[in-house]
Order: sequence, then structure tokens, then C-alpha cells
Amino acid sequence: MAKSYDVIVVGSGIAGLSFALKVAEAGMQVAIVTKKNSAESNTYYAQGGIAAVSAQTDDVEMHVADTLDAGDGLCDETAVREILADGAGCIEELARRGVAFTQLEDGRVSLGKEGGHSKRRILHVKDVTGKAIEEALLHGIETSPNIDTFEHHFAVELITASKLAGQERRKLEGADRVLGLYALNTHTERVETFVAGAVLLATGGIGQVYQFTTNPFIATGDGIAMAYRAGVEVRNMEFIQFHPTAFYSKDANRFLISEAVRGEGAILRNIEGEAFMEKYDKRKDLAPRDIVARAIDSEMKKSGARHLWLDTKPITLKKLHEHFPNIYEYCAQQGVSLEREMIPVVPAAHYLCGGVQTNLDGETSLAGLYACGEVACTGLHGANRLASNSLLEAVVMANRGAESVAKFLSGAAPHDVEVPDWADGDVRDSDERVVLLHNWDEVKRTMWDYVGIVRTTKRLERARNRIQSLDREINEYYWNFKVDESLLELRNLILVAGLVIDCALQRKESRGLHCTRDYPNKSDTPSDTSVRRI
Ligand SMILES: Cc1cc2nc3c(=O)[nH]c(=O)nc-3n(C[C@H](O)[C@H](O)[C@H](O)COP(=O)(O)OP(=O)(O)OC[C@H]3O[C@@H](n4cnc5c(N)ncnc54)[C@H](O)[C@@H]3O)c2cc1C
Repeated sequence: MAKSYDVIVVGSGIAGLSFALKVAEAGMQVAIVTKKNSAESNTYYAQGGIAAVSAQTDDVEMHVADTLDAGDGLCDETAVREILADGAGCIEELARRGVAFTQLEDGRVSLGKEGGHSKRRILHVKDVTGKAIEEALLHGIETSPNIDTFEHHFAVELITASKLAGQERRKLEGADRVLGLYALNTHTERVETFVAGAVLLATGGIGQVYQFTTNPFIATGDGIAMAYRAGVEVRNMEFIQFHPTAFYSKDANRFLISEAVRGEGAILRNIEGEAFMEKYDKRKDLAPRDIVARAIDSEMKKSGARHLWLDTKPITLKKLHEHFPNIYEYCAQQGVSLEREMIPVVPAAHYLCGGVQTNLDGETSLAGLYACGEVACTGLHGANRLASNSLLEAVVMANRGAESVAKFLSGAAPHDVEVPDWADGDVRDSDERVVLLHNWDEVKRTMWDYVGIVRTTKRLERARNRIQSLDREINEYYWNFKVDESLLELRNLILVAGLVIDCALQRKESRGLHCTRDYPNKSDTPSDTSVRRI
């Protein structure tokens, strides 16, 4: 039997949890569907902090100017102004929910500095900001009587009016709308049906589409894939932010070395030990991330080195201990002593600036379907995200979305349609799981090699051919075998890889995070790229 709620939230990172708390506080019944345990999210691993204006020497107009500058001519200025204006209020709310932002000895809040920011404005909890936020929000969820959490439930597909057949569909007049979703309970291996008047996608990013990423395993683009399959508009997928400084190790792990470390004075050096950022930008090591990542890429290609160095000697050991205990500890575990040695660093896929298109109420192009956080594209980031604007955007948009959903549900006619349960048909268990493993590897390598920091049309076309053939294979597999988590994730990864490539091929210019040798200049009339299943 279907589980019925007012609202279903998919994902339990900062966006999903903030939204769930708000709608529950407004009296609605909420189900949170999340594919692992609740804490596992990109949010949990965020280090640097959350950008918002709090110092008297700063103001929202300066934050707006820095965001527009990083976004390289493609931000939606209204979105930038409205989202950033709500920043201070959201910080107060997080503090009220129990996030203890680090303070200076005199009691003022400690503000970090990151690339592209003209002022110190990053509030943080040492270098474990995301963990502190996640824990505070989860505490609120556990104590809310209006929220049920379904861990280890993998959202598979949205249920929409247009997908229903015959009589049930005729009961729903007018345009298409969302009715709920199917989720695979990964413990029982059964697909369960959830119905609701509204669904929020808060499924985070797509880092796992690349061979090397700072993102945890959950970041497989599931929300974008589900929205796309339901005919929802997706935008600007070519803008993948590669973080310049992930710890280089011989395996695929890429632990993030926060930009805040450069904010406190650390310097990038090439393999010969020379500081090189001055050659690329007057802001040197604190230029926006796209510039720093391309500079590193160019230095590595010139020397053939596998990594560069991050020199933390300009920072006192006391400060390193106090501000970056997590990074310090990780380096020590890897055998790098910051007393004596530099950190080996390389770029890694980090953040998706595009995603499911929403307005400033979090509404998508499908009635009743909302999206916020990294899965969504509001226009705030344009062609490149300003560091630490993403946690802020997630909270602001969760609050705005929660208000909007309340209005939507009070105006929408309730639906009394029978939603059919998931049908497995006569599909079998797969006896060829090696295919999945192989294809998983192939997507990640293809994207890393052909759709990386610097692109060409030829490489993008080569990638498109490979991804199209993987897409055919995985869909054949999907329809013939019983679904499980790795099959579902791979199917979504292949789909979003294709969307990244399609958007990249649409953009005939180099702007922000999209740099192509075939179109090195900026167009005079920049516009968003867009993909939508017809
Ligand atoms: C290492 C690292 C450091 C970062 N540092 C910062 C920083 O300092 N400042 C900043 O602003 N940003 C930072 N970011 C980016 C920021 O953390 C993310 O953009 C933000 O946390 C995204 O929040 P979210 O709620 O949208 O998604 P997430 O936090 O990623 O949560 C997504 C949730 O959706 C669930 N989910 C996904 N698919 C499904 C499915 N099919 N079914 C059910 N559940 C699903 C996941 O399990 C998870 O619970 C960092 C990112 C990383 C990886």
C-alpha cells in the first residue's frame, strides 16, 4: 500500500533538511526519503563554511558584486540580489537550530576568506562546517512529530499525471503534475510507492560522474536524472567546478584541502617549487576557482607532473591547528607533516553550477515539483560559483520553497487517483554484474579525459558517442533485470553525463567554468544552455 504525505523530500543534506523542518513547522506531514543513512551527503563534508554578510565593514552589495564577477556574465542578477539579501537571516536561523559558528577570543564571529571574495565573510565551524550544520538539522528532524525519515530508500522515479493510464489520468484535469515517487528500499530490495501533493528534489550534485572528485559516493545526479525523465527543464550542465586543491593520492580518493587554507596565506607552487599564480591573475592564489584550476592544469601539462604543491608555511602552526584540525589530521594520516612538508594537490570535480531549472520559489517546470540545493539551477552561480555561496543558497531556497509549497498545497485540488504500485514484471536477477562495474569505470574515465577542465569539440563529440552507446546498454539492462542501487545509480550517471556533454556542445564560447579551445572567446550575447526531454 502506498505511503501518503503532504510533502515528500528526497535527500537529507542541508537543502532537504532545512526545507523539511520549515514545512513541518507549518503543520504539514513530511516524508524524507534518503538513500543511505541520513547524514551521508555532500553537506556533511563541507569544510570552508557559509558565505554571508555579517561584518560592519562588509555589505550585501559587495557580496553581490563578487558573485556577479565570479559568475562571469551569466548570473541572474535578481536571483543574486534576492538570495544574498536573505543570507544574514539564514545564518541566525542556523545558529538558533544549534550551529555554533567559530568565534574569536573577543566574542566576535570568526570570518574566513576564500577565492573571489573581496571581504572576509565566510562563517565556519573550524574546518568541519558541514558536519556541524548536518548534525544540528538532524537533531531538529528527530524531534519533529510531523516528519518520518526513510533511510536506505533510493528514489527511483517520479510519478506524474502524464504517466498514468486511462481513467485515472482523466480524473486529473489540466496540466501535468507530480503525484509522488517510487523508492527502492535497499534493505528489503522492494520498490515502495509514496504519494504526496508536492515533492522536493534535494539530491545534491553529480561529482561521481568524474573519475576524480571531492564528492562522496551519493553524488550521482539522481534528482536531475529523475526530473529530466519527467520532462522537466535542466540548465547549464556544462558548468562543473573543479576544485583546485584536492589531496593527491595514488588511488581515486580526493580529500578536499579547503580554499580557506589559501585564504589564510598558503601558496601554490609548481613541481619545481615556484609560486606561479601571479602569471595568471593579479589576485594570485585567491583568484576565482576556474582561473586557479586552469592555471594548475596548464602548469601540470607543461611539466608533466602528477601534482603540484600547496605550501602552508606562511600560516603559523598554531593557526593551522586551530582553524584546520581536520585537514591537519588527514595530512598526518597520509604521512605529510605540515611542520616540514608541502601538501601534494591536484584539481578534482567538486560542484555543479547548473541543474534542474527553478524560479526563486524553488518551483520547477512541473507543477508540484520543487528543487533546491546543488540539484537546482536558480541563476545565482551563473558560469561559476563563488566559494561558499552554495550552502547559503541551499538554506535560502529551502525557506523560500517551503513558503511556496504551503501556498501551492492550499490552492491545489486534492487528487483521489489510484497510483499503481511498481511492477517488476518477469525480470530476472542479473548474472552479468561485471558489465555494470566496467561501464561505471568507463563513464568516469570518459568524462575525466574528454569533458574536463579544458575542452575541445572533438573530445566532446568523442565522449558523446561513448556515452550514447553506454546509455543504450544500460537501458537494455534496466528493462531486463531486477533493479538495484548500483544499476539505478549507473543509469542516472550515464544520463547526466550525456546532459553535461549536450550543454557543453551547445555553448559556442569560453565562459566561467566552460573553457574550450575551439571557441576561446566570450560571446557578446551570453545565454543559458538548456536540455529537456520532449
Ligand atoms: C568536500 C566538500 C567540501 C565543500 N565545502 C563547501 C563549503 O565550504 N561551502 C559551501 O558553500 N559549499 C561547500 N561544498 C558544496 C556543498 O557542500 C554542497 O553544494 C551542499 O552541501 C549541497 O547540499 P544539498 O542539500 O543540495 O545536497 P547534499 O548535501 O549532497 O545531499 C543530497 C542528499 O540526497 C540524497 N540522495 C541523493 N540521491 C538520492 C536518491 N536517488 N534517493 C534518495 N536520496 C538521495 C543523498 O543521500 C543526500 O542525503 C562542499 C562540497 C564538498 C563535496
